[in-house]
Amino acid sequence: MTARFFHPAPIRNSEQITLGSDTSHHAVQVLRLKQGDGVILFDGTGGEFSGHLAQASKSGCQVQIESHLPVERESPLKIELAQAICINEKMDWIIQKAVEQGVTRIQPLITRRTLIRLDEERAGKRWQHWHKIIIAACEQCGRNTIPQLLPLLSLAHWLEQKLARKQQHGSLAGHHIMFSPTASQRLAKLSPPGSGEYVTFLTGPEGGFAGEETDAACYAGFIPVRLGSRILRTESAALAAIAAAQTLWGDY
Ligand code: SAM
Repeated sequence: MTARFFHPAPIRNSEQITLGSDTSHHAVQVLRLKQGDGVILFDGTGGEFSGHLAQASKSGCQVQIESHLPVERESPLKIELAQAICINEKMDWIIQKAVEQGVTRIQPLITRRTLIRLDEERAGKRWQHWHKIIIAACEQCGRNTIPQLLPLLSLAHWLEQKLARKQQHGSLAGHHIMFSPTASQRLAKLSPPGSGEYVTFLTGPEGGFAGEETDAACYAGFIPVRLGSRILRTESAALAAIAAAQTLWGDY
């Protein structure tokens, strides 16, 4: 498979691109690419560019761009994953797999029972780290459109925004689904979302949602939905839900 790299600036046909130091290091030291090897670059504005390494050294790589290919690998289903952040590498894992599975945007949330607390500086660093995971997942899985990573918010604040939108428009467009192991509704029983409408998935932290959070989400327009008869870990729930939605309404 031809190596793919994200380039964080607009790319034009026939130009020579200097890869950043991290990308050059990855290309030469990790992937062992050499001068003349074919590569694909994408800048997130649509499609991808094929080219070859005009220079490949530890100090930096140059890519000669040859042609633009207007290819996208996006699902027709738009999914927003609103995920209560979780400990250790679980959140990294959720983000990586959610991108591979075609999620359109990710909203990290702090809930009452979220086990990690981040001050503003650490939250900013964590956001940058998650963004790098999204880019790496796109490089790996062939997506040329970078899913949006929204700023970390408290669940209460995020629900206030949803409620304001619901009050303004009378209802929320698309599906707003809150995953709860005690719900009776099932995903497969919901009608397909309208064309271009978002399916928003809200998944709780390791300890689940507090009662008042469930109430606030329902008041804001979320439907509680259950995934099977077993209690899943939060990372399993989010990824099972995305896979199920792609099967029901997307491109699986
Ligand atoms: N005892 C907790 C509870 O009752 O919510 C279990 C929390 S579970 C480990 C973490 C999150 O995964 C939940 O908040 C929920 O969003 C989701 N989840 C886990 N299993 C689920 C299921 N079978 N159906 C729907 N959501 C589930």
